[in-house]
Amino acid sequence: QNDLRLREVWMRHAEHGEWALRGVNLDLAAGTRLALVGPSGAGKSTLAHLLGRLYPYQGSVTMGGVDLDRVCADDVRARIAIVEQTPYLFDASLRDNLRIAAPDADDAALARVLAVAQLEGFLHNLPHGLDTWVGANGVTLSGGEMRRLAIARALLVDAPLLVLDEPSEGLDALTAAALYKALADETRGRSVLLITHRLGGIATLVDEVAVMEHGRIVARHDLHAAVVAP
Ligand code: ADP
Ligand code: ADP
Repeated sequence: QNDLRLREVWMRHAEHGEWALRGVNLDLAAGTRLALVGPSGAGKSTLAHLLGRLYPYQGSVTMGGVDLDRVCADDVRARIAIVEQTPYLFDASLRDNLRIAAPDADDAALARVLAVAQLEGFLHNLPHGLDTWVGANGVTLSGGEMRRLAIARALLVDAPLLVLDEPSEGLDALTAAALYKALADETRGRSVLLITHRLGGIATLVDEVAVMEHGRIVARHDLHAAVVAP
């Protein structure tokens, strides 16, 4: 139903530039949790952006057999929640920054996803709680806090596929481990594509690892099989 399938996907950022994606083939059956690793410049973030905002590309990207190129932006957002490395925050209250994704969510729901994103302490330390202004003339967030706020926001959408671009960046190992554990519980049954260059602790959240190099996926391993095998 919500299987994601990429076939020979090519993408370059400038018309005459280098190809950032050079024939990506990827199958993510519904419920699959996959980490995408690989050297800097391999094309991981480009792939995430392509799934989130749909850069123009060549090749085919389908979800549940439907070509994402032919689906309107709102439908794409309902199917694929993406947390970018540098997420966009609004000059607004924390509550409004979260509810942009889910206007009906009540404060209890917001507090719950903030806790999953390991921002419970952050929320309690804010001068006005969910009413605290974020951005210009308000509270300044660190890069890691912004990213985790974006994770909380993405969780409110309840999309069948969650794409996370370097969610553990800037977190200490313990917080990263807690985040992965909470995300694993929260997203049970949904697909996860975790982009990371830090392998530590990822087995809590994902079952498989794919390696990207030079714009292609060159290997894919089942993490649990690798652990069990002699
Ligand atoms: P990774 O996430 O694996 O580090 P990226 O997807 O960021 O890799 O980059 C893949 C290639 O695309 C690199 O050669 C990078 O320089 C290029 N690239 C990424 N973003 C842009 C951009 N906005 N404009 C031009 N080139 C870009
Ligand atoms: P742009 O993508 O146009 O460069 P910015 O990155 O400057 O935009 O920020 C977009 C919005 O994100 C700002 O209006 C601000 O509300 C919020 N924002 C940016 N940086 C921070 C930060 N460090 N803490 C809190 N909010 C921020």
